[in-house]
Amino acid sequence: MEREKTKFSVEKIVNLIGVFFSIVVFILIGYFFIAQVTYPDERDHLSTDCKVFEPQWYRVMENGEKVALQITPPDRIPAEYGEVVTLSTTLPNDIYNCETICFRVIWQDVDIYINGERRVHYTTKDSRPFGKNSAMRYLFVELEEDDAGKELLYQFSSKSKYAGDIRTSYIGDRTSIWLHYISETGVRNIVSIILFLMSFLCIVVCAVLKFVYKRNLDLNALAWTLFFCALWMISESDFRQLIFPNISVVSNYAYWSLMLIPIPLMIYINEIQKRRYQKVFVIPLVYGSLLLIIGTLLQICNIVQFVEQLPFIHGGVIVAIVIIIVTITIDVFNRKISQYLAVGIGIYGMMLSAIGEMILYYNRSNTSLGTVLSVGLTFLLFTAIVKTGQDLFETEKKKQQAIMATKAQAQFLANMSHEIRTPINAVIGMNEMILRENENETIQKYAHNIHSSSNMLLGLVNDVLDFSKIESGQLDLVEGNYHLASLIEDEMQLLCARATQKDLEIHLEADAELPSRLLGDELRIKQIVMNLLSNAVKYTKEGSVTLKVYFEKHEQDTIMLSFSVIDTGIGIKKEDVSQLFDSFKRLELGKNRNIEGTGLGLNIAKQLVDLMQGTIVVDTVYGKGSTFTVSIPQKVLDKQPIGNLEESLEKYRKEKGVSSTLFTAPDAFVLAVDDNSMNLSVIQGLLKRTKIQLDCVTSGKECLEYASKKRYDIIFIDHMMPEMDGIETLNRLRQDSLGMNQHTIAIALTANAIAGCREMYLEHGFNDYFSKPIQADKLDELLMKYIPSELIHKVNPNRTVANSNEQVPQEQTESVPESELLTIDRTVGVSYCGNSDELYDEILQMFYEQCPELLKELDSYFQSENWEQYAILAHALKGNTLNIGAMNISKLCLEHEMAGKEENVEYIKNNYSTFVEYLNELLSVISKSIKN
Ligand code: ADP
Repeated sequence: MEREKTKFSVEKIVNLIGVFFSIVVFILIGYFFIAQVTYPDERDHLSTDCKVFEPQWYRVMENGEKVALQITPPDRIPAEYGEVVTLSTTLPNDIYNCETICFRVIWQDVDIYINGERRVHYTTKDSRPFGKNSAMRYLFVELEEDDAGKELLYQFSSKSKYAGDIRTSYIGDRTSIWLHYISETGVRNIVSIILFLMSFLCIVVCAVLKFVYKRNLDLNALAWTLFFCALWMISESDFRQLIFPNISVVSNYAYWSLMLIPIPLMIYINEIQKRRYQKVFVIPLVYGSLLLIIGTLLQICNIVQFVEQLPFIHGGVIVAIVIIIVTITIDVFNRKISQYLAVGIGIYGMMLSAIGEMILYYNRSNTSLGTVLSVGLTFLLFTAIVKTGQDLFETEKKKQQAIMATKAQAQFLANMSHEIRTPINAVIGMNEMILRENENETIQKYAHNIHSSSNMLLGLVNDVLDFSKIESGQLDLVEGNYHLASLIEDEMQLLCARATQKDLEIHLEADAELPSRLLGDELRIKQIVMNLLSNAVKYTKEGSVTLKVYFEKHEQDTIMLSFSVIDTGIGIKKEDVSQLFDSFKRLELGKNRNIEGTGLGLNIAKQLVDLMQGTIVVDTVYGKGSTFTVSIPQKVLDKQPIGNLEESLEKYRKEKGVSSTLFTAPDAFVLAVDDNSMNLSVIQGLLKRTKIQLDCVTSGKECLEYASKKRYDIIFIDHMMPEMDGIETLNRLRQDSLGMNQHTIAIALTANAIAGCREMYLEHGFNDYFSKPIQADKLDELLMKYIPSELIHKVNPNRTVANSNEQVPQEQTESVPESELLTIDRTVGVSYCGNSDELYDEILQMFYEQCPELLKELDSYFQSENWEQYAILAHALKGNTLNIGAMNISKLCLEHEMAGKEENVEYIKNNYSTFVEYLNELLSVISKSIKN
């Protein structure tokens, strides 16, 4: 509560400061404008006070005659290309020191003389890379008081159309003349620099988006258009002679820029018009490109000057403008302008300004070289940015919608496959019990079919679940420490099981130096390698499959663990390799139609490897085989080399306290709680062998009832249950301080082991968790770990098999075909004799000799109806027949033993004669085998 209060007041202060800041900004802006208008002017006024130099000019003819000229600059005197024009005038009488006359010369060489003395000599003959004329610049003639009233000769020549061109000149001090130019064209220059920077920024942004995010923006083309516009304006700037060392080169850029402008502009318009008028755009695009190449060559070779090419350059721009305006107008009429309304308005604005600009140029205006156009261009850039923003917003919106849809789909798939997994697990578990307990061949065959189909189905559902989890970003790695030897053994077992069905050779090459214990997600690594192994087997008809495990040192305490799966199978075509890791992609469907698969395995493997920051590569020769190599960085927990794999595994088993021998715990009490009764049946079936006293309940409420009456050694509680879930059930158990099971070991059952789930269950008070499907060996491991050791009796596995036979229900033995009743499985028999053939033969002999005696005894009990003794003798016969490997007869004995115990007289009387008959027949079978 206290905390809430402080949080509230701090938030209030932060909000108030925000309001305060806005008020201050508002006041400061208002004050600035009011103060600037109302308070007195404090500026030091710099003089922009230069005057236009407009004297009476005389043209000095070749014969020295001076002819008065009637010109008002900007103007033109008739002159031939290359003709030297000499003008003469008299300087004013009031000249002060530091005064200058500034001439603007265009593509002209100039010499200026005062009173016969050459004061200015301008030519770029020796400094320009190519061209016939000197670039435009301002020329300043420094004057002194003494020059007053003297004669000024202005001599110029040009090998271009500017041969007789005269521009306005100014007289005044240098600063005032520059300030005058700034006041005339400063705005244009500032705008051109801003345009240059903005377009450059847009180009950089577009490049980043393209190369980093693989996203192409139309804006890129417009940004280049504006970049060249800005470059054109900067290279035509009045101030270029103050900025650039070589203005001859800079002046060429003005023409190149002008030639380039229409190209990206048309590309841009073509893109935003969705290439509707592509064919029309091709013409000016080709023209512009050719003009650029040919024009440049002509200029470099000094054949035709850029300045003389201007009508062609302008022609290209005008054609582009006309096409753009026409296509936009068509779009307006066809109502397609809405696709790019903002830019459409921007382009109209820009086009108008461009036309205005050209009119000004051809009217020889000195003032606005690009000023009007730059405003139009900035407007266009602004509208284009607005459009790009809208486009990005739209795409982002669509992307978000698509992501949401994919997520929803993935979530649906995840939920579905999770739901499907639960019943499949139950089917597999129940079937496992049929396989264990039933010996009827037909049922075994059916059960085997169910086993392989349900496992395939589970694999498929697991793939879909993994895929959808990865897609929706829900799959996290669960890291833990694991024994590499055990991982390799599991992989090899799988490989062995699959490869032997196809008669393939299998090989393992494991580096003996591999570290024995690592940190990583064992389950997922197994999944990746198993996928590669099963693919190798699936796609190999003959030959071999090899698993190679090796490593390289990566960083300190980390290795790059590599698994190579090498097969001699069908291989993959070169052109298909790039699609190998795509989801749902199966290659060469025609050829592989009969091979099961979803095309998800490699995609999942790749995504898992990516999650682990590893790599997966394939090296394959079509028709010869493939090698898939996965390399994953893994932290080393124990550097001890694994060496011999078998030894390493044994060590691991000992460490974990896992005994390979089985056990019983008849005095242990276990309670299993799961709302799914099929899961309970699976646990029941799996625990039968251990003789543990198991109670099963289907709700948390029942669990509490049972727990209040009996003390259990372990309680398995399912997490997801209706009404009271597993966590709540455990909480109540733990809170019941008087209860018998307050501190009982509680193990959570979960169908979905996810990252951090162990910690979560431990936090809720569970001692451990166990993930479904319930695996027999894992269950045994848990029981061994948590049942008090004094209650555990380790047993010889062979005996356990015998014991488990005792549980076989009656109706199952009945279905054994008669022909098989007399089968004697020598291997089983030998295994009961400590794998000694000699001992078995002795036992067989002994049985053959003793059995007739026993049969006589049995008969006497049958006749005297002494069912108790009958049962005891049947029990002895059951043990004896089992020992010699006559398992079916042994089951028959068990039935008679049970019938004797239950005094099921009817059964005994109905079946006695056949029973004895079978035993006698068994004796004759044995006699034959002994004689042989
Ligand atoms: P699938 O379930 O179809 O096996 P995968 O994603 O595991 O799906 O494999 C995708 C495709 O790659 C397969 O359909 C098969 O055409 C090809 N492929 C995978 N492994 C091999 C291999 N070892 N040899 C030849 N082709 C393979």
